[in-house]
Amino acid sequence: MHFRKHSLSLTPLWVVALFVFIATISCRQEPKSSVSTATEAPALQPPSFQMDSAFTYVEKQVSFGPRVPGSPAHEACLEWIVNKLSGFGLQVEKQTFSATIYTGQTVTGTNIITRINPDQNKRILLGAHWDSRFIAEQDADATTQKEPILGADDGGSGVGVLMEIARQLAQSSIPLGVDIIFFDVEDQGERSGANDSWCLGAQYWSREPHVAGYQAKYGILLDMVGAHDAQFPVEDLTNIPGYTNQVASRVSATYLKVWRLAQQMGKGNLFVNRSVGGGIDDHYFVSTIRGLPMIDIINKPMNSPTSFGAHWHTHQDKMDVIDRRTLRSVGQVLLAVLFREAAGNF
Ligand SMILES: [Zn+2]
Repeated sequence: MHFRKHSLSLTPLWVVALFVFIATISCRQEPKSSVSTATEAPALQPPSFQMDSAFTYVEKQVSFGPRVPGSPAHEACLEWIVNKLSGFGLQVEKQTFSATIYTGQTVTGTNIITRINPDQNKRILLGAHWDSRFIAEQDADATTQKEPILGADDGGSGVGVLMEIARQLAQSSIPLGVDIIFFDVEDQGERSGANDSWCLGAQYWSREPHVAGYQAKYGILLDMVGAHDAQFPVEDLTNIPGYTNQVASRVSATYLKVWRLAQQMGKGNLFVNRSVGGGIDDHYFVSTIRGLPMIDIINKPMNSPTSFGAHWHTHQDKMDVIDRRTLRSVGQVLLAVLFREAAGNF
């Protein structure tokens, strides 16, 4: 933007006039040559990610209340997500499963899956969890620690960004297969308990994918991608059990590519040059059970005692923490990744 303004001010007027003349001619000619490469090229330009749209999708989820599996709010949100995606013209599958959480309670979970361009062989998987936590064990107020959280960021933000991505892709003619999965029963695990008490929907899907033998080039998970001061470090998988060397190196290569692109796009404040130990989130099970390398875009601020944002698993995780510019940055990076993949230059 700055460069363009600067160069224009130094350009003689006749050059500007000639440019406008040529541009006018090409505009007039465009409708005649609908099959020329000139009209194909824009298909590989990422559409513009609408942050207000993504923000509204987060707001809508939060408006149902905490989306704890088994609750009416969870059911209502499920119906809304499915109807919304269908309304974009996408096919939606509901993968239901029975899940026993560590408290002993058994619930019905639903992974929501949409396949964009199902006939394309080259595929990228995008994911986020759509349930919200049933307790607020990190809250400073002990009297409300047993109450479920609204999860605007923890759950809501990732789904909001991916709903907007889905809307944009449905309107585009991107020559790339994209699968979007909203995992259920991610956040009902035991703090300091077994790793596999978390991410029950992702564990189920990794063993029973919606397409037999499903694979993708790689996956990208979004979790807590809406806070105004978010920082997304990359994972160092050294000494993290469960990863094969091959999957670990593909995960690392994907982090490198995505972070480099994000930084080239001026998003280095969010996509920071810092690494943290690999975490347990839906991507861990997709990578280790399914063998599909998946990275995690997750807010882990520097020097945080819990390693997550201050609102994590507290009642502060509500709309106030969501900054639509963070949603936009994440959405823009994802769209840039997908359109580069589609063009074969990523
Ligand atoms: Zn959580």
